[in-house]
Amino acid sequence: MSKLLLEEMSWPEIREALNNGMKTVIIFAGSVEQHGPHMAEITDTVLGYQSAIDLAKRLGNALVAPVIRPGLSEHHMALPGTITLRPEVFIGVVEDYIAAYVRHGFETIIVASSHGGNFKTVAQIVEDQAKKYKDVKIIGAFSLSDMMSTIAKLEKNDSLPAGACGGHSCAWETSEMLFFAPHLVDMDKAERGFLGEVAGEILQKFFDEGVLSVAQNGILGDARPSNAERGERFFKALQDKQEQVIRENLDKARKGQ
Ligand SMILES: [Zn+2]
Repeated sequence: MSKLLLEEMSWPEIREALNNGMKTVIIFAGSVEQHGPHMAEITDTVLGYQSAIDLAKRLGNALVAPVIRPGLSEHHMALPGTITLRPEVFIGVVEDYIAAYVRHGFETIIVASSHGGNFKTVAQIVEDQAKKYKDVKIIGAFSLSDMMSTIAKLEKNDSLPAGACGGHSCAWETSEMLFFAPHLVDMDKAERGFLGEVAGEILQKFFDEGVLSVAQNGILGDARPSNAERGERFFKALQDKQEQVIRENLDKARKGQ
């Protein structure tokens, strides 16, 4: 398998890949932020790499950009270790990634989020940059609601207690980390957090007033029913949805040309 991570390739390798038609690049915006008492702050960046690599393999003509860390995490700042970028700094970083890859000859640039707080801003950046670079396809990925509705279905199919997969350091995310990076999870410290529905007013409160207004331990959901096997299955199902949305967006961009 040839290399997919741009940061691990040399410039001649990247030039050769471009010449061989690898003209799509996948940029994930992750985070460095608290992930409950049981899991590492780098979680969204680890999962961003895994999603990007898997997507690159599915698409077949794509390379993976260094995952952007940190992201927009003001709502997690009450707990130590979290870093948040000012929105204008975050937007500038994503725009400069895009500008670099446009200059180097990539023809399709996919921008995705592996952290809830980035989704809205990333969608806006994609919209703006698509207008700026008319000869390049700037493509968005699935939305936070696409992600959360997929997770809700998985939670139900697995007969997990309602709210166990609340979306942050929960049974879904902890399971994925147990599959990909078990050394970054301490299941002895896994706890239950907020178990209500994370939508509407609660989601707004979480973003506006911060995580402690919803859960003192920083968990939305329940981390305890987590295991690697579940992580592998949930990851695959989310990637199926992600791939479907990206292919639809690629089709739309093609027709728009
Ligand atoms: Zn996370």
